[in-house]
Amino acid sequence: MDSRKYDVAIIGGGIIGLSTALWLTERYPRHRVVVIEKEKELAVHQTGHNSGVIHSGIYYRPGSSGVESLIRCCEANDIEYERCGKVIVATDESELGRLEDLYQRGTANGVQGLEIIGPERLKEIEPHTTGIKALYAPGTGIVDYKKVANAYADNLCANGGEVLTDSEVRNIRRSAGSIFLETTQESLESKYLINCAGLHADKVARMMGVSPDVRIIPFRGEYYTLNPQSRHLVKSLIYPVPNPRFPFLGVHFTRNAHGEVEAGPNAVLAFAREGYRKTNFNAGDTLGTLGYPGFWAMTMKHWRTGVGEMHRSFMKSVFLHDLQRLLPEVKSKDLVSGGSGVRAQAVDKRGRLLDDFSIQETEGAIHVLNAPSPGATSSLSIGEHIVSLAAKSFDLATAS
Ligand SMILES: Cc1cc2nc3c(=O)[nH]c(=O)nc-3n(C[C@H](O)[C@H](O)[C@H](O)COP(=O)(O)OP(=O)(O)OC[C@H]3O[C@@H](n4cnc5c(N)ncnc54)[C@H](O)[C@@H]3O)c2cc1C
Repeated sequence: MDSRKYDVAIIGGGIIGLSTALWLTERYPRHRVVVIEKEKELAVHQTGHNSGVIHSGIYYRPGSSGVESLIRCCEANDIEYERCGKVIVATDESELGRLEDLYQRGTANGVQGLEIIGPERLKEIEPHTTGIKALYAPGTGIVDYKKVANAYADNLCANGGEVLTDSEVRNIRRSAGSIFLETTQESLESKYLINCAGLHADKVARMMGVSPDVRIIPFRGEYYTLNPQSRHLVKSLIYPVPNPRFPFLGVHFTRNAHGEVEAGPNAVLAFAREGYRKTNFNAGDTLGTLGYPGFWAMTMKHWRTGVGEMHRSFMKSVFLHDLQRLLPEVKSKDLVSGGSGVRAQAVDKRGRLLDDFSIQETEGAIHVLNAPSPGATSSLSIGEHIVSLAAKSFDLATAS
């Protein structure tokens, strides 16, 4: 058999592509499955640049979180994680209704142990935080998702799948019932394709002649870190009550799996899909964003928030002011510039920022066009869901 022929090729070695490949190799062990990743290492984009929170399912749809499978996977693969708990803090009366809604939604989603707590109990959990009420979620945790993604890769390779790194897919064409992929290393042939290319997912779809009904607009999330002397101010995870009109959770404090405390992320428009720094600029990406009607529709709706986010990005004092609502003792000298991540935010033509997973199926292919937070937490559920779609629309029984 030609060594470069596959049954299913998955573009993207982030946590979603790797989970999908893992499920495929488990369910269809005789099939040839390959993950193609353009970087030298796996999980270096969204998966390796996130807050590392195991979300408990408060904000999301019932049954969608997949937390328990993630925890089982960490235990089976000796990956450290901690269920440190989190508080969502209301700092003024106007937020109480939304806090109550989150409690109701989380309870309906089956999240265990949720409690609305008053200021005294909040002080016991997070001694340096002040709020009038808070939602306590004891099951929320932290983990290093890069380690999780690499464990998926090890397991899928142990099942007989392959992972190719340093191989960017540059061109895709169909011929005689097969899909031909040209990468920066070689040419590959596959019967079916699954596009999990994150920040580039719409571009990969277009390479296949598909015109997706959304465009990926990159939003950078910038973090500060607390210097080591100030880390004691945060025991676990402290969040504000989110703005329901915006699919991001608001700047928060997160103690990560390496013991550091991060503050952020904000959400600013990036001028490059992989624009991790303010100065990163890619003409093609920027022109693509500016030429998309959905971008202007989004700007009309959210310009005020957008301007506020830009202001906060450039002015440390504004960032600090927002953080002080949650943690009054934090001072400018406690904050050191940290890393950043770029969210692959799908925006539709009417300017709506999609806040749920978006998957488009075309003949012989599945495109994951939006995998927002809690995509890392839910990666095993999403991968399983994608494989169930593949089982229906690909002729997997006859492959191989
Ligand atoms: C700032 C931030 C904070 C977040 N915080 C959390 C959190 O705390 N908890 C949580 O559960 N979720 C969080 N998320 C969401 C989570 O990180 C994502 O849902 C998840 O990582 C998406 O994974 P992915 O595999 O779709 O994308 P990615 O990890 O971006 O992977 C896509 C891969 O495709 C590759 N690729 C692209 N184009 C090509 C090509 N042409 N050829 C080959 N390879 C290609 C890329 O190099 C990349 O490795 C956060 C996200 C961000 C950005």
